[in-house]
Amino acid sequence: MAVEKNKSALPPDRLAATLALEQPVSRVRQVSPARAAALEKMGIRTIRDLLANYPRRYIDLSAVKSIAQARIGESCTISGTVHEVTLKKPRPRLSLVEISIVDGTGVLIVTMFRQPWLAESIKQGDRLAVAGKVEFSYGFKRMTSPFLQELDEASGQVSGMVVPVHPACEKVSAAWMRRIVGNGLEAVSGLHDPLPLDLRLRYRLMSRTSALSCIHEPLSMEEVRQARRRLAYEELLLLELHLMQEGALRGMGKKATAHVTDGLYVAALDTVLPFALTDEQKAARADIFRVMAAPTAANHMLLGDVGTGKTVVAAFALAAAVDTGGQAMLLAPTEVLARQHAKGLGDLLGQVGITCALLTGSTPPSERAQVVADFAAGEIDVLLGTHALLEDDVVAKNLTLAVVDEQQRFGVDQRAKLLGKGEAPDALFLTATPIPRSLALALFGNLTLSYIKQRPLQTAPRVTCVVHKDQRGIAYDAALAALARGEQAYVVCPLVGKDSAERDAASVARRDEEESEGACPIVAIEGDGDLAHDDVTAASREAQILQETVFIDYKVELLHGKMGAAEKQAVMERFRSGETQVLVATTVIEVGVDVPNATVMIIEDADRFGLSQLHQLRGRVGRGRLAGEVYLVSASKHDAALARLRAMETTDDGFELATLDLSLRREGDILGNRQHGASVLKLVNVARDGRIIEAAHADAAALLEADPQLEAPDHQALARELRILFPQSSGNIYM
Ligand code: ADP
Ligand code: MG
Repeated sequence: MAVEKNKSALPPDRLAATLALEQPVSRVRQVSPARAAALEKMGIRTIRDLLANYPRRYIDLSAVKSIAQARIGESCTISGTVHEVTLKKPRPRLSLVEISIVDGTGVLIVTMFRQPWLAESIKQGDRLAVAGKVEFSYGFKRMTSPFLQELDEASGQVSGMVVPVHPACEKVSAAWMRRIVGNGLEAVSGLHDPLPLDLRLRYRLMSRTSALSCIHEPLSMEEVRQARRRLAYEELLLLELHLMQEGALRGMGKKATAHVTDGLYVAALDTVLPFALTDEQKAARADIFRVMAAPTAANHMLLGDVGTGKTVVAAFALAAAVDTGGQAMLLAPTEVLARQHAKGLGDLLGQVGITCALLTGSTPPSERAQVVADFAAGEIDVLLGTHALLEDDVVAKNLTLAVVDEQQRFGVDQRAKLLGKGEAPDALFLTATPIPRSLALALFGNLTLSYIKQRPLQTAPRVTCVVHKDQRGIAYDAALAALARGEQAYVVCPLVGKDSAERDAASVARRDEEESEGACPIVAIEGDGDLAHDDVTAASREAQILQETVFIDYKVELLHGKMGAAEKQAVMERFRSGETQVLVATTVIEVGVDVPNATVMIIEDADRFGLSQLHQLRGRVGRGRLAGEVYLVSASKHDAALARLRAMETTDDGFELATLDLSLRREGDILGNRQHGASVLKLVNVARDGRIIEAAHADAAALLEADPQLEAPDHQALARELRILFPQSSGNIYM
């Protein structure tokens, strides 16, 4: 553990220091009104915000390489003296600054693009540190657009061997930010630590004051690591506490159902099943029964890849609800899926005497009225359907279980609306997006989880190939060969409209700048909403071109998000029956249908999808007895994007891919704005920090168990932090 730093001999009053966090940033020394305005634009209003503006990176001068030592192709930091600075204009609209740096062992040439002002600000004799990848050309070691830091000893800005690089803006440079943050640290020195002492001791975490000072003004990278560990734990503990308290609030004053899980319907279901459950399915069922039997509102997520047999496990939960004298609802994201469930689940449950009904957007009005009336009267046990279930006039007599299939397709409000149809129904969420446990805990807090990893059926092999757009003939040939064998093929094209194309270009530009960090742009396409800008005419054209050029002898049909439900149904039916052999789909979702005879899938512009989505998509082929082939077509020239796709070739494990996806995406992409609470996780990396997440989760649960309102003297500072971080607690659920 790093040494506690004491900035001033006489720390200000601890309470005053703690309260200072909430003071406007303009109170900080050297923050003029103009700087305050610039900071405001960066979202920095209070001293708390300022101190949460953590350095983006550090230049570790203790690990500096000499120019002679620096290996070509390697990323490193070099410091030296500026020998010469020249501004060049190779093209009318392109300026570059070339800086040669010497350090006694050699010369390094640094090229900076589009920052002509550097030619003014950097002068011969200046001391500079640069961090980037070493290249070699025209006889010199070089760096292109490295990170660049002036080492101005006179100004005394850089205290140690580690230079923090804060997020900055045009008006407040990184150097100024460092100074201002330093002043901000003085104002809060000695502040109360919200973490109870026993937790700090258990994990050997530094105090908050030390952590803030070590992350902003470290003397070594070890200090940064320790500070980050402490602050990440704090972020997570607070988020978990918040999520759990919200969860408790939801159940407060409401009567949850302690379900009977060994009743007659459950037993009967076991006897009519055409197969035996796998061990994992049995374990998942036991988990679900356990939480359903408890007298509190369950919040359970069942995670399993496509085809792992989650539906039948859910069937047992539905049967238990009916055994208890309750009703259940199952919400599915699309009409196609809802119908599939009505057929599969409806048959199964029907065999044991459970009454099911289906409600979707295309249910005729008279039928709908009947279903709604019967459900309200308690004559229907299980109601399956799409968003149509969420309409206000759909009311249950006694809803004790709500199941959401493909839960990631639904928003917080929709899930809340479904749960609102009962007093405090148990909630069961099914998802094929294999969220790693750490992420699920971080996002959902008070959640129990079951995983199914093995598929019950031995499926035929499936191969995945990444092909460059120029060579997509390979993919078409494979499709043609399959068609010749009497099989069928999918062509999936994202065909995102102009808006997204622009966004994509922007993110590629941004990526170039972040390449060294391994980030890469992913335009994640997850549902109909993301495809709202679908260029239907372009999709039709693509289908037509394929029909007229590649698949001349076969029938190609198009399925896109803007078709009506009946039309989609008809297209799917023709594909299922084999009347059409090639289905060009612009949306992911409608492909959610099981057509065992479809064996080849070609995914165009595959780099636009997240790995988890690609994995879900490819789950549609190679499910039955026939082997599947998946071709990921990409025109991307970015190594990172291609390497990402190549992972699809090497692993078939959805969880592994999801974890990989997480580690490749930038934080904002993972936690997105879609998830409440994500904004407080500034330092947590869900892919890397699994153990911290687990610990914080367990600790939050234990804290609330012992002290639900956090009233003990040792917990009051935590409670205060929670009130500040999560001001408008709405009593909503954050699942
Ligand atoms: P998903 O998890 O993707 O929702 P499904 O529930 O649709 O998967 O199940 C996929 C297929 O596997 C279905 O056809 C289902 O009948 C079948 N299945 C599920 N469990 C078993 C089992 N234990 N043995 C054999 N087949 C099973
Ligand atoms: Mg399913």
